[in-house]
Amino acid sequence: MPATTAAAEKLLLQMVDDYTTREISPEDMPMDAAGDFPAGFMQKLTDTGFLGIMLPQEFGGAGFGPEVTAAALNHIARGNASTAVTLEGHFKTIDQILKFGTPALQKQLLPSANDRIFAFSMTEASGGSNPMGISSTATREGDHWVITGDKIMITNGGLAQVYCVLVKTAPKELSVFVVDQDMPGFSFGKREDFIGLRGTPVGEIVMDHIVVDNDHLLGKLGDGGIIGDSAHDDARILMGAVLTGIMEHELKIATDYAKERKAGDKPLTELQVTHRKVADIAMRKETTKLLYQRAAQLKAAGQPYSEEAAMAKAHGSRAAVSAGDDTLQILAGYGYSREYPVEHLIRDARAMEIAEGTVEKMRSAIATAEFNK
Ligand SMILES: Cc1cc2nc3c(=O)[nH]c(=O)nc-3n(C[C@H](O)[C@H](O)[C@H](O)COP(=O)(O)OP(=O)(O)OC[C@H]3O[C@@H](n4cnc5c(N)ncnc54)[C@H](O)[C@@H]3O)c2cc1C
Repeated sequence: MPATTAAAEKLLLQMVDDYTTREISPEDMPMDAAGDFPAGFMQKLTDTGFLGIMLPQEFGGAGFGPEVTAAALNHIARGNASTAVTLEGHFKTIDQILKFGTPALQKQLLPSANDRIFAFSMTEASGGSNPMGISSTATREGDHWVITGDKIMITNGGLAQVYCVLVKTAPKELSVFVVDQDMPGFSFGKREDFIGLRGTPVGEIVMDHIVVDNDHLLGKLGDGGIIGDSAHDDARILMGAVLTGIMEHELKIATDYAKERKAGDKPLTELQVTHRKVADIAMRKETTKLLYQRAAQLKAAGQPYSEEAAMAKAHGSRAAVSAGDDTLQILAGYGYSREYPVEHLIRDARAMEIAEGTVEKMRSAIATAEFNK
């Protein structure tokens, strides 16, 4: 049974649209220039209830399912992809605590997810594509675990207060624990100066002998690989939605400009070269939308969705970069200028060929799924 009604879903998306137009879109260009969100921005988003969109109602959230949650991020990304990605990082982490956390941990942590941001931390300096190469460890001492290590390039790193962390519990055993910013031994390190999604904080967390009890383990010892894959799957659906939002933004810029701009005495809309570009942008946008919506439908129905989620992000990330390039070419000199958002939309989309698993890793996952059929 869905936790929400069709009327509530419609109302949510209308609220998200209105709020995005009023409060989030106007900050898109300033955030890109500043490399940060403005003071008070995140608090307002929290006060408006955005952090609890997919959190079940028993924990005080709104309880919307995967399809509506993805649609909400899609609507936000039409105006500001960075803000949508901050929420994506939060939602995928909540999802793993819902799937793998003990009832006691869920009860302790999840009500706070309405006003505290969560993050999922796997990558270390040794590389993100090879989880077995990590050095962070959790060592059992009596009835507690002691966690030590350093995670880099974490979405919401420095902003979030709760972190799922992938660690080794034996030389060849990966496990995931949950740590809190308030725990002794927790600190923040370097914040990345990335070229895109510049309104999303991405940074380092340092864990120096953090002591947690066994309830802070997600799943069982050795489930780290499964939980990491699950986090990627959930994130990739949401990234497909964000990428669709970026392409909707690009398409609007391209069509608005083509209607206004003249080449000689003809508007750009009458040139076949413009038709080709606009049609390609629209097709890339629609195919990505169908892929992420299909993955979200499968997830909502309790079916496997890993391959479809990988397709949504692998296809959508290159599609949004290419659509941005076509948009830039339609605007030509203005497209190349920082006065227009086109160049930053390309930089934003480019991040998603790397984050949540590189496109190379996703293609391997998709091909393996096909070989196994
Ligand atoms: C915007 C952004 C947000 C991020 N957020 C998070 C986050 O929230 N949490 C987190 O843990 N990490 C996060 N990351 C880190 C991200 O997951 C890693 O950058 C990514 O997994 C790749 O790791 P790497 O950069 O170390 O590259 P490497 O793993 O060193 O890879 C280098 C190159 O080799 C290729 N390669 C490596 N191994 C293989 C293989 N087996 N098959 C095919 N190709 C391979 C890669 O595709 C890549 O082209 C984020 C990164 C970005 C850019």
